[in-house]
Amino acid sequence: LKSSVIIAKLFMAGIMANINSNLDRDTIELLAQEFSKEVTIREQADVEDEVEALHEEEDKDEDLAPRPPIITILGHVDHGKTSLLDAIRKTQVTEGESGGITQHIGAYTVSTPSGLEVTFIDTPGHEAFTEMRARGAQVTDIAVIVVAADDGLMPQTIEAINHARAAGVTIVVALNKIDKDNADQDRALRQLAEQDLLPESWGGSIGVVPCSAITGQGIDDLLERMALEAEVLDLKANHFAKASGTVMEANLSEGRGVTATVLVQRGSMAVGDILLAGSGYGRVRQMLDWRGQAVSLAGPSHAVEITGLSELPGAGSRFHVVDDLKQAASAAAQRQHKTREKELAARNTTTTLASLFSDLAESKKKELRLIIKTDAAGSLEVVTKSLNDLSTDEVKVSIIHSGVGCVTTGDVSLAEASDAIILGFHVIADPKARRAADERNVEINTYTIIYEMLDEVKQALSGLLDPETVQEVIGHAEVRATFRSSKVGTIAGLYITDGQVVRDCFMRLTRDGVIIHEGKVNTLRRFKETVREVRAGYECGLTIEDWQDVREGDLFEFYQRRKQARSLA
Ligand code: GDP
Repeated sequence: LKSSVIIAKLFMAGIMANINSNLDRDTIELLAQEFSKEVTIREQADVEDEVEALHEEEDKDEDLAPRPPIITILGHVDHGKTSLLDAIRKTQVTEGESGGITQHIGAYTVSTPSGLEVTFIDTPGHEAFTEMRARGAQVTDIAVIVVAADDGLMPQTIEAINHARAAGVTIVVALNKIDKDNADQDRALRQLAEQDLLPESWGGSIGVVPCSAITGQGIDDLLERMALEAEVLDLKANHFAKASGTVMEANLSEGRGVTATVLVQRGSMAVGDILLAGSGYGRVRQMLDWRGQAVSLAGPSHAVEITGLSELPGAGSRFHVVDDLKQAASAAAQRQHKTREKELAARNTTTTLASLFSDLAESKKKELRLIIKTDAAGSLEVVTKSLNDLSTDEVKVSIIHSGVGCVTTGDVSLAEASDAIILGFHVIADPKARRAADERNVEINTYTIIYEMLDEVKQALSGLLDPETVQEVIGHAEVRATFRSSKVGTIAGLYITDGQVVRDCFMRLTRDGVIIHEGKVNTLRRFKETVREVRAGYECGLTIEDWQDVREGDLFEFYQRRKQARSLA
């Protein structure tokens, strides 16, 4: 039958279709009846599953051999992450190798003095680390937490420790900058112990390696320590299987087409192999190691830059070597098609307080993971202690990260990667974090009264969470000016930065990232006229119910309470 005839028939039946539309089974069968034809519906084999199944076969013991550990460097800004990565890279430059090593790919492998290999991920920092985890890629065995001996543990050090812990990776501490006059190693050890990282020298199990990225002191010790930890972890991989692993990064470059840095995690990859990576595929044309030298084979825990893919794979996506090009092409096409569906489905898999109890009932979870952000160290202590006390025999409340300050995108990706809920006490999410949370369906709940917070968590744990008072953040605004009116008090001149504000909605007034008042919007005006709502990009004047203290530079968060089956996300 001609497509136009079918489209016309569908139109008569009230279905707007075009030549690219997909029809469901029922519609197809109805159409067949209408045309008095018989149809056979053939299910397309799931090529993608076939490919992945091929790589999921059990490794036989005799095929397993040691592989290098994969290491990520985390720590506070300026404590020397980049300098350490450079210093480690330099240990591989032989005398007389002019110009050093300029090639820069996502990971590099070096030899330790005793001849073992270790691989470093070249993107330091816990944000990137957790971002990869949030995308489903687990590529790190050991996290090196860099602590500058002159500075000691700083907020981001603790954040990095928590991110590493949430990922369940081995932690080693590089105590950097010991060359500095004001270096204080003892203080750093004490601070580490306070974070439950008891150094070996103090009878604990955490390897702390004093070093200096500048003088090179201790770098070899650090490398040997990595090799030792790898031995303890007994890291092994099948070196003979068809390769699979993770795409670290991918770029489009003129002349070379798609280049991708891939980390092989199982098997060995050779030039000429047919690769399926994300929704791209192709034959590996060229393989370069981190020194920019062409190689013909890359084994487990080795990263190489490859060319030959048809399309850019996303960072963090898995790659597999497959048998033939046709299979790779159809799997790639299928993937593209599926990506959208998967994205939709993924939106429903994150944890919310509301879903917690049913998840518990299905015994999927024995743990409620929380990330806590508060306005001050004092309140942080009280809040975390009180929340910890809510643990029951059935469910453990575990706080995987806590800190002072507003909710950041780092918190959001940690929550996504670790299936956690974020609770803010007297703080809200910064606009970028709020957007990220909305996109990734991560739940952020803000409270200003501790009993409300505890009550909600308690109720969530027992499945009694009221289907009331769902908070939905609808917009943000900044105060550009304030005016006094003898009749209505302080009027805030606002610029709506995103979303909208509506009359009678709820609001949180924040100053320097801390909530100073939570209440209701009283009047809302544009050019003297009372209005129902004002959208992003517009200015308006607003008064707050029973509150006068508003200053230029304050930020507003607007939210509504809806009644519905509870899902705060
Ligand atoms: P990152 O932000 O953690 O990547 O830190 P960088 O590697 O950029 O280092 C920050 C600053 O500290 C730079 O000026 C480095 O030169 C300096 N630095 C890094 N490691 C050392 C060290 O071991 N000793 C001294 N004295 N300075 C260092």
